[in-house]
Formats: sequence, structure tokens, C-alpha cells
Amino acid sequence: MSDSTRAAHRITIVGGGAGGLELATRLGRRLGRRAHAEITLVDARLTHLWKPLLHEVAAGSLNAFEDELNYVALAHWNGFRFRLGALESVDRRAHTITIAPSVDEQGREFIPRRSIGYDTLVIAIGSTSHDFGVPGVAEHCMFLDSREQADRFHRDLLRAVFAANAQSEPLREGQLHIAIAGAGATGVELAAELRDSLRAMVEYGFDRIVPQRDVRIVLIEGRDRILPGLPERISAATHKLLESIGVEVYTGERIEAVTAQGFRRAGGMFVAAEIRVWAAGIKAPAVLANLDNLDVNHLGQLIVRPTLQTRADDHIFAFGDCAYCLYAGGVVPPRAQAAHQQAALLVRSIENRLAGKPLPVFVYRDYGSLINLSRYSAVGNLMGNLMGRKAPTALFVEGWFARLAYLSLYKLHQLAVLGFVRTALETLANLLTQRSRPRLKLH
Ligand SMILES: Cc1cc2nc3c(=O)[nH]c(=O)nc-3n(C[C@H](O)[C@H](O)[C@H](O)COP(=O)(O)OP(=O)(O)OC[C@H]3O[C@@H](n4cnc5c(N)ncnc54)[C@H](O)[C@@H]3O)c2cc1C
Repeated sequence: MSDSTRAAHRITIVGGGAGGLELATRLGRRLGRRAHAEITLVDARLTHLWKPLLHEVAAGSLNAFEDELNYVALAHWNGFRFRLGALESVDRRAHTITIAPSVDEQGREFIPRRSIGYDTLVIAIGSTSHDFGVPGVAEHCMFLDSREQADRFHRDLLRAVFAANAQSEPLREGQLHIAIAGAGATGVELAAELRDSLRAMVEYGFDRIVPQRDVRIVLIEGRDRILPGLPERISAATHKLLESIGVEVYTGERIEAVTAQGFRRAGGMFVAAEIRVWAAGIKAPAVLANLDNLDVNHLGQLIVRPTLQTRADDHIFAFGDCAYCLYAGGVVPPRAQAAHQQAALLVRSIENRLAGKPLPVFVYRDYGSLINLSRYSAVGNLMGNLMGRKAPTALFVEGWFARLAYLSLYKLHQLAVLGFVRTALETLANLLTQRSRPRLKLH
């Protein structure tokens, strides 16, 4: 697509994550390829990795270089354009967004600041961790908000293991100990994944480390149970499983401060840990607070109407983690499942908008929650309406069936962005090459 052949209606999507990439792909196939609209996806990164995989990247059980998808290629295959860069501002009168200059690792600018026009703008830039003002978090914790952070975590983890294995003197206090603040899905899944990958690393030859003796993984949650957003039965089953694999779990424990040595708990107790992870909550990226007077809530999320249009502007939509959306059942949760459903709705909304028809409203359907505990197990519930029943009763699932259901979530995302043939080929290629490479990424 060149500028001279530009279709009349410009749809600009900012953020190519779990939600934005699915939307760009579907709109590209339905409208872009037929030149019924011009679809542009803007992302701060050049490649996409489904965010729920980040804890596996951090633990080394997934090699992100093999699973990431290149936006330029996806755009070429699916009828949309890709523009690299981070959203900086919006001019609602001029119908333009400004993209910050792109700089390389040495700080040299290789793409200058520029503007992109829109007739419909969709913002889907996700979320980042929320430190709730606890001192020391930003300086001394690692986060799992982005691919870079997950890569950095993995690099630091490997270095810690290499250093401990090369050391002749006994391990220091807190050495090879990992403390995770926040026992939501991210913290819980990371704890299990780390327990498994550290055990596997030792099998690869880090023979001076005894996992049961040297590696300590501590999960600390401020509320009275882990996975506080999920049904109690899932919390209880997951808690038991974590303890059975040697993860120490503390609930009802507030972290007061973080230092370079560990977490200080509210009662004065100290958890010494070489690696400290903050996974205690989310907030929206700061850039949203100053987008030409678009309303945000206390977490900085753009407030949207049930049509997913921002409160102040009919031409601007927002969805996924960066949006605050109410529906009859409450607040739409910040989950890949919600972003996936909202992307599907927005395909219809934008088609209706082009045809001058009324927009549909978003109703979130909770199909259940699944928690993946690495190779150990998976736990969760599937809602009755997924199983073909009318009443939304929850069916508790555990073990291989839950794991299969969990894996299918990623496959659904791959199907949405890669299509059936590429997803099948990708899955087959993965199965075929599995035995020719180490189970863990060790570099
Ligand atoms: C470890 C982990 C495990 C999880 N497990 C699950 C799970 O099992 N099930 C589930 O439902 N959810 C899970 N989640 C939550 C899920 O990942 C998010 O809810 C989902 O990714 C939100 O989708 P999104 O499209 O709103 O944002 P994201 O998927 O985060 O995508 C945001 C995109 O915006 C881009 N971006 C950011 N800022 C800018 C900017 N200024 N300009 C341009 N581009 C920008 C980013 O590069 C990214 O591509 C998990 C999250 C984590 C971290």
C-alpha cells in the first residue's frame, strides 16, 4: 500500500500486543487487503511475543527468539502497515498522533519524531507494574512487563547460577534466593516455572548447587490468600501445589521497603534475596495521562464507554489492560482473554462505523481462569457457558486437562494472528526440533 493509493478511512492502532495485534490482523484481512480502509499498527518494538509467556522467558523454559513474531512480516501477510515507535501524544483536533524518535542502543536517533493521521484511533498499549509507592521497588526489583525485562531477568538468573556454581566458599545469605512480591497469576506462575528451571539447570551440570538446599523461592502476598482475584478453591489448590514443590508462600504480608539485599516485611521481618521480583499489581503506561484531555482513572487507564470509545472522543477507542471498562458484571479484568474478546468486538464496531451503523457494546464473558504451574501441573476453572451450558457454573479442572486448556489459550492467539496453516506448521516445527536443543535456554 503506498500513500497515493491510500483508502479513505485511516484506522490507526497503537500497541500490537495480545489485543492490538489480533485487531490489526483481522482488520487487515477484512478491510486492508480489499483497500476498504487503511490500517496502520504502531508498536514501540519490532517483534511481538504474547505477554503471558514472559515468565517462561524469564525462567529460560521458552526461547523468545524462537517464538517472537516480526511485525513487518505480519503486516505484509495480513494487509496492514507497521510503523515502529512509541506513542508520545495525540492531537484530537488534527486527528494525528505523534510517535517519539526511535534511538539505537547507543542512544543515536535513527527515526525522527513524526506524526501519523487517523480517522479512527485505537489505543491498546497494555500495562506496567504498579509499585504502590513502596520505597526501593524501582531501584531494586525486576519486573515482567516487557520482553526486555524478561530477557534481563533470564540473563541475571543465569549469571547468579554460574557465579554460585563457580564459588568455593559457602553461599552468602540470600544468594540464589528469589523473592517474588505479589501472588497473582504472574507471581505464582513465575515461582513454579523457576522451581522447575533451576532444577533442570542443575541437571545440565551446575553440579555444586543442590536445589533443595541452596535455592529458595519465596512468594509474598499482601492479601489473605494467593490468586485473590480467582475463586478460593483455585487459590487453595494452587497454594498446596506450590508448597509441595518447595515454594515458600506467605499471605497477609505487606512489603514495607525493598533494598539491594531483599524485602522488608511490615512486621520488621526481612527476606534476604539476591533476585527480587515485583509482580504486585498493574497500572497503565504514564503516556496516557496526557493525551489531549482523554479521561483516565486512578491507575492511569483510559476510561471507556461500553462501546470501547473513550469518554471524551467518539473517534478514539481503547481496550485491553490500558482501558478501564465497566460492564454489567463489574470491571473488565486486565487479562489476555478480555483483550482477545474486545479485539473481536472492535472488528465489528469498526465495520459498523464505516457503514454508519450503531456500535455494539462490550460484554465480558468469563470463560474461566487457568494457572499454569510449569511441568508440575495446572489448575483452574472453566465456566459452564464454555461447556455449552446456559448457566455460568464453574467446572474445577486440574492436571493435564487444565494444562491442555491453558496451552490452547496461546494456540487461539496464534490462530488469530498467524492463521491455521502457519500455526500448524509452527507447532509441527516446534515438535520436530524439541529434541535437538536443550530444554532450557542456557545463554
Ligand atoms: C507473566 C504473565 C502471565 C500472564 N498470564 C496470563 C494468563 O494466563 N491469562 C490471561 O488472560 N492473562 C495473562 N496475563 C495478562 C495478559 O498478558 C494481559 O492482560 C494482556 O497481554 C493484555 O493485552 P494488551 O493487548 O492490553 O497489552 P499487551 O499484550 O501488554 O500489549 C501492549 C503492546 O503495546 C506496546 N506498547 C507499549 N507502550 C507503547 C507505546 N507508548 N507506544 C507504542 N506501543 C506501545 C507493547 O510493546 C506491546 O506490544 C499475564 C501477564 C503476565 C505478565
